[in-house]
Amino acid sequence: MVTESALIPDEPEPVRESLVNRVIDPVPRQRGPSLLPRSERISRRRFLGAVALAAAAATSSAGWLYAREPETPWYVTGGPEDVRLSYAFAVEQPEALRHIPCYCGCGRQDGHRSVLDCYIADRDLFGRPSYDSHGVACPICTAVVGQVQAHLAAGKTIEQARVEIDQFFSPYANHATDTPPPDKHTHGQ
Ligand SMILES: [Zn+2]
Repeated sequence: MVTESALIPDEPEPVRESLVNRVIDPVPRQRGPSLLPRSERISRRRFLGAVALAAAAATSSAGWLYAREPETPWYVTGGPEDVRLSYAFAVEQPEALRHIPCYCGCGRQDGHRSVLDCYIADRDLFGRPSYDSHGVACPICTAVVGQVQAHLAAGKTIEQARVEIDQFFSPYANHATDTPPPDKHTHGQ
């Protein structure tokens, strides 16, 4: 007959105590003078310091190096087609938009410098964009980008596109961003 007391071995108290100590401090700490020569001790301390520094650097720089792809917001991938195409164009051809103003008033309101700022807020060191949601709900931004695309598709230069777009949006001229015109030699891209 198996009783409860048979399942729990009865250990004498001193043994249990030493088990607990072993769990808490599995490797008994070395007390008293180190057995290593002085130079060895210093280099070991330096080594440990270097390990700690390397670990800290690895955590921060690895986090930076292997940071996940910045998340693409819903409005870039799932918005209406003309909005999606405008974002895609801003990502692929930022130079085409950098010299084209936006006429919606975002220059005064949001400090935008060109219609590019309505779409791309920033780029990281790898050139990956972070987006501005401004372009989602602004029909003027969408129209400007659409016109840039149409002019370039028709074989015009950015300079020519700028002239035509300025003309088209002349009723909104006082809302235009302060955007320097393209360099005379800026073509196509
Ligand atoms: Zn805008």
